[in-house]
Amino acid sequence: MKAKDILKNMKPYKPGKGIEEVKKEFGLDRIVKLASNENPFGFSPVVEKELPKLISNLEIYPDGYGAEIRKKVARFIGVEENQLIFGNGSDEVVQIICRTFLEPGANTVMATPTFPQYRHNALIEGAEVREVPLVDGHHDLEGMLQNIDEQTRVLWICTPNNPTGVHIDLTTLQSVLERTPDHVLVVIDEAYYEYLEADDAFDSIEALNRYPNLMVLRTFSKAYGLAGLRIGYGVGHPEVIQILEPSREPFNTSTVAQAAALLALDDQKFIEETVDENRKNKKALMQFCDDHGLKYFDTQANFLLIHLPCSGDEMFEYLLTKGFIVRSGEALGLPNTIRLTIGKKEDMQEIQEAMKQKLASVDEQ
Ligand SMILES: *Cc1c(COP(=O)(O)O)cnc(C)c1O
Repeated sequence: MKAKDILKNMKPYKPGKGIEEVKKEFGLDRIVKLASNENPFGFSPVVEKELPKLISNLEIYPDGYGAEIRKKVARFIGVEENQLIFGNGSDEVVQIICRTFLEPGANTVMATPTFPQYRHNALIEGAEVREVPLVDGHHDLEGMLQNIDEQTRVLWICTPNNPTGVHIDLTTLQSVLERTPDHVLVVIDEAYYEYLEADDAFDSIEALNRYPNLMVLRTFSKAYGLAGLRIGYGVGHPEVIQILEPSREPFNTSTVAQAAALLALDDQKFIEETVDENRKNKKALMQFCDDHGLKYFDTQANFLLIHLPCSGDEMFEYLLTKGFIVRSGEALGLPNTIRLTIGKKEDMQEIQEAMKQKLASVDEQ
């Protein structure tokens, strides 16, 4: 058998430790997972109540076009129905974009570290990946623009950026779009859009009117709390969507996921509550960091990247013994950091207490 050469050096996605695995290993009965930026408050109670009723006609293929969810999302964000493409998570929209635009001889420009799936999918398509290091947690947009040439097909911008949480302001993004050549598709990944509270935030949907080469990604996995159902979408110009459509599997989003997303979108009260709690708990966590001399990036998302006086792995291992799963920054290319999803108030108080103990023992050494 002969697979693509590039795959020889690639590893499958390594998920964070599983809850049951950690429970068993440390003899704990409760584990709090703060590793994947999932919603600690779950998902809309309306979806919970209605979901059992959605489980019918499972022998029938889903509506591949997603007519109802398409109509609902189009109305909700204020675009035409032919400006949307749905995916099995926005992850899949990333894959569809790469399948469509990337091939050997082409290149794609992105930050590093950022969401790893841009790079992963681009490599599989045989494209050259041009990674431009973050500067103090921010995209080096000037550096990224300088990397664009005739062979560049896609420019990836993640705002707020995963794993640093910082966002790109309106004026800056505007200027980047002005200076990006027309032959480059600019993909703005807004997986944490609902959490953005900065008043200089960019209105990407409005900008679609001015930039035909712009595409925006959103998801139901984060604030909407539906990560387990897998549904996200891309918004772009009708011509771009048309170019992408043949690369999409015909039945890529399930009947249940579409129906749940429809209900979730109607329950904006749940989103407001989620965002509100996140803001409060984030503030408290930042205060904790300030009190303990820990630096962090000014996040606009539901996670915080914290700099530590020890390695990220060491803090990760310690917190695991206390029943908390977080992300060590070592694997993300950010040594001596952890990325912490902002959880429920009680859990945050507990993890802060645990971190305090660990920091005290690091101080003594
Ligand atoms: C979580 C995440 C996604 C993917 O979400 P899906 O579950 O595939 O919709 C995309 N981009 C970023 C930056 C993320 O953090």
